[in-house]
Amino acid sequence: MLYSLTHEDIHKGYGILVNRTHPLKADEDSMAGKLSPAVPDPLPGTPYPDVLLEAVAARQLQALLEACGSAGEIIPVSGYRTQKDQEDIYDSSLRENGEEFTKKYVAYPGTSEHQTGLAIDVGKAAEEIDFIRPDFPYEGVCQRFRELAPSFGFIERYQAGREDSTGIAQEPWHFRYVGVPHSLLIAGQDLTMEQYIQWIKQYPSQNPCLLAPGWTVYFLSLPETALQLVLPEEAFLTGNNEDGFIVALPAHAKPVVKSR
Ligand SMILES: [Zn+2]
Repeated sequence: MLYSLTHEDIHKGYGILVNRTHPLKADEDSMAGKLSPAVPDPLPGTPYPDVLLEAVAARQLQALLEACGSAGEIIPVSGYRTQKDQEDIYDSSLRENGEEFTKKYVAYPGTSEHQTGLAIDVGKAAEEIDFIRPDFPYEGVCQRFRELAPSFGFIERYQAGREDSTGIAQEPWHFRYVGVPHSLLIAGQDLTMEQYIQWIKQYPSQNPCLLAPGWTVYFLSLPETALQLVLPEEAFLTGNNEDGFIVALPAHAKPVVKSR
């Protein structure tokens, strides 16, 4: 498959880093038609029944929930948000919870992973589930979800003790879809996403990372203008929202056949 990559493409893909210093660049209209219900046909009375996610992330979330055997025990609370949604959440949290709390738990509009459609907040089923900080304990079915998540492309994004790296307080309920094998590498190497984006840069195409089982992963920087390359059909390429791309190839796929 032929890829013609430009600077704009750096800001697209399942592996984009979105945080305070890496705001979302993609146009909101580009999400139209790419969203699906996080869980189709939720049981009547389920809180937050209208949660949306990017379609592949939604499918993988459903497979993960199924693998946990957690039907009805884990509730998607918040998924895709528009810029306007994030502004409303930020402003109402400022009013209700004050500035300190809001800066700790609510991303500034334009810098929220939820605006990518790739982030999901999940809560343990209960009569009342807090919207900003749902309960998602490190035990039982919730822990099972957490442990299986990387096999389905999700990472626990904001872990305890990583605030210096992520800029966000511990959020046991917030998971981010990055896709396999990135999720396996991030969890296996015990990195934050911020650290992964830097770490993978030590593996260019001539010295790829072979750590993820069955995968070859490497970093591709973008020359001044544009780049054309041919990758096998099974390749998975994403921008990093910073300065280049991460390419993942299943081990059996043939390497790059042409680039210029
Ligand atoms: Zn969240």
